[in-house]
Amino acid sequence: MLFETLNKYKSLKIKKEEDNDKIKQKYSITADILSFQICKRQYGFNTVKGFSNTQETQEWHGTLIHQVLSRLHGKYLHNVKLKNKGIIGEKDIIPTDKDVEELFKKANEVLKSRGIKPKSRENEEKILNLLKIFNKREGKKLYPRIVDSELRLQADMGDYMLYGVIDAVVEGDEGIEIWDYKGMKFPDLNRDWGKKKLKRYEYQMLVYAELYKQRFGNYPSKCVLYFMNELTKESSPNRSEAESNENRRFSSNLKYVIDFNNKKNIDKIKDAIEDFSNTVKKIEYCKENNNWNVEEKPDKETCDVCDLRWSCPAVKGKYEIKPL
Ligand code: SF4
Repeated sequence: MLFETLNKYKSLKIKKEEDNDKIKQKYSITADILSFQICKRQYGFNTVKGFSNTQETQEWHGTLIHQVLSRLHGKYLHNVKLKNKGIIGEKDIIPTDKDVEELFKKANEVLKSRGIKPKSRENEEKILNLLKIFNKREGKKLYPRIVDSELRLQADMGDYMLYGVIDAVVEGDEGIEIWDYKGMKFPDLNRDWGKKKLKRYEYQMLVYAELYKQRFGNYPSKCVLYFMNELTKESSPNRSEAESNENRRFSSNLKYVIDFNNKKNIDKIKDAIEDFSNTVKKIEYCKENNNWNVEEKPDKETCDVCDLRWSCPAVKGKYEIKPL
């Protein structure tokens, strides 16, 4: 009625909102799709309703690792310029432990000022140590091959927009590789939950590969998942023989590589996209019905740091409320 009345005025053209004019909802591959898949209740309460508290601790962990790694690469590029000007020598190009400490401190201060804090001092030490190991172990080979970091990609999926951030785009031996740093250990494949977790991350990388292709025209040659917390085993100076053997196992668990020379992996992309689109439908259904009941309980690691564990029916009685 209002449109008809207003459109009598010839100079005034008001268009009715068509379905395809609607602003499409944006979904993040990690913050929405993977979070919902890990725990529907945690996602609903923390991301949709905004009841977040100790989630900040989890956010601290992931954000800090990503920020320091990105700054370390920036420091390397800066050092290359200094070397080209003859100010420093070749051996000083790779950032030192002291550089890692400084970059860690700066990134940590920024996060703390935004209220994103670590769980404890030990936690800070642990992550700092892990970043030093990464810098020593990977820096020399990896930093010169990074062609882009924190690359933002987005795709129109029809009903919704999907976006993600690729941690590092790396020039590999067989072409471009896309890397994602995971602030955790390699999933335990002896457990169903571990297998599902790895499959989710694999799907994440397959969808990144598709987004990369939509932007640049080709699939990357490989996707690499890097499990940062596997590095901690190497930090002990007094490893026994058994531990060293164990370490080799852990060392091989550092990276999970999806090779796109294998056509089977390209075929899997369709399944990954379908899986993500189904998850978006489920998220929208849960939002409409305000239903965040847990259908499948996640692993202990996830529940142990969840704000909702004391009141969550899925883990009823497992977490005691202790007096301060
Ligand atoms: S305690 Fe576990 S099951 Fe319950 S909301 Fe948190 S993560 Fe989900």
